[in-house]
Amino acid sequence: MTIPLPKNGKTKEEVLAQMQAWRQHDLRWQEGKVFSLVFSAGQEALAVIKEAYAMFFSENMLNPTAFPSLRRCETEVVGMSASLLGGDGYVVGNMSSGGTESILMAVLTAREWAKVNKPAVKQPEMILPITAHPAFEKAAHYFGVKPVRTPVGEDFRADVAAVRAAVTAATILIVGSAPAYPHGVIDPIAELAAVAQENGILCHTDACVGGFMLPFVRKLGYAVPDFDFSVSGVTSISADLHKYGYAAKGASVILYRNNALRRHQLFAYTDWPGGIYASPTMGGTRPGGAIAAAWAVMNYLGEAGYLAIAKQVMQAVTAVNEGIRAIPGIYVLGDPQMSLMAIGSESLDIYEVGDEMSARGWQLDRQHYPPSLHMTVHFAHIGNVETFLRDLAASVRMAGKPGLRKTGNKLLLAAARLATRKLPERWVSKLMGRASSLVGVSGSGLPERSAAMYGMMGSLPNRGDLKEVVLDLVEQFTQPQDAS
Ligand SMILES: *Cc1c(COP(=O)(O)O)cnc(C)c1O
Repeated sequence: MTIPLPKNGKTKEEVLAQMQAWRQHDLRWQEGKVFSLVFSAGQEALAVIKEAYAMFFSENMLNPTAFPSLRRCETEVVGMSASLLGGDGYVVGNMSSGGTESILMAVLTAREWAKVNKPAVKQPEMILPITAHPAFEKAAHYFGVKPVRTPVGEDFRADVAAVRAAVTAATILIVGSAPAYPHGVIDPIAELAAVAQENGILCHTDACVGGFMLPFVRKLGYAVPDFDFSVSGVTSISADLHKYGYAAKGASVILYRNNALRRHQLFAYTDWPGGIYASPTMGGTRPGGAIAAAWAVMNYLGEAGYLAIAKQVMQAVTAVNEGIRAIPGIYVLGDPQMSLMAIGSESLDIYEVGDEMSARGWQLDRQHYPPSLHMTVHFAHIGNVETFLRDLAASVRMAGKPGLRKTGNKLLLAAARLATRKLPERWVSKLMGRASSLVGVSGSGLPERSAAMYGMMGSLPNRGDLKEVVLDLVEQFTQPQDAS
């Protein structure tokens, strides 16, 4: 695929107008109807973050001696994060580009730590409750650490007995989440860390989404179990500034219990003709803007600012929770302790409810095992609780009515099951594409009604086929759409 560079440059107006026009099909998160991807602390904070980002737009934190200002920002961001997360004077860490990079670093560090401290281990293993974020699978894929998945209990929290039983001589790391993304519940970190300690291995808390929310939720008086460095067996924590820290995207922290452990993360190469090269994390060039914006928002909001936001968010969460429980036919899965939750149903096709909500402008991610809709409630939603609940009740009523479309969905499902048994893989992926057009794809390429498609995906008997289908989609998304 090739696209020629424009022969001559366009004007600034032309360039910006073109991109502005393209945005009309994008999710409009500003209206507070999107429940993933974007976090916001409101317009005033946004203005500060943007200004700080722009101030350090060109600077590169690859070389910390070149920009002492950014070095100060990063060390203060890490220090403030460590203090929020129960750290003492020994806790160290780095900023990274996001939760995934922080998690990659934690897994790499565990592997390198094990080379020194568990030299007999040839194929290291890490224990992941099934709800742990796919970034750990990515780390497994990149770094050759074997993922060992363990079940969660009825309450969707990691099953400690199963984790204990999964420990082998090759286990180097146990992972728990605070909270795990799918259902918003906090794993029993203290117990997981105790298992790690008994076995002399590492324990990582993935507080990517909770790290900058739970400390404030606790301070407001809500019950939050111990999950951070106050638990003695926890050896590393990932926490994303670009989520409930409200920083600009590209900002997370990876923290370690002490310098000796973090040492395994660092990289240096001394034989390059270009000079001595050293780098703490995955990236080479590190954008100064993201570091500066994180420092700016933490100092702009301060503890009082984060507390005030968390208070309003938790009030909205309580209202949403109660509202959902009052709608017959749907329920909240488990007992989420923060501001993430999943909505399920025993009697309805919950994906149909999701599609009805989409038709009303609400964006809720679809989950499976069991089928559910995901919500991340944050500051942008606090004024929308009533309309959300009204639309949700209406969507549930619609999804409960028998209709033509659902009959169509059933036929599609049956066709998919038949096809996956009879057809070669490539044909199946073609069929998936057809199916998505059958169930309605808007001009933006976003499926308007995903219930049939998602139901079909979930029903593919062979997960390997599904993976190929998904990778086909990833390839498609890196190709240009039809010009329009
Ligand atoms: C968001 C998230 C991640 C991954 O973070 P990215 O910034 O998207 O890379 C990891 N774990 C949990 C629990 C998350 O919510």
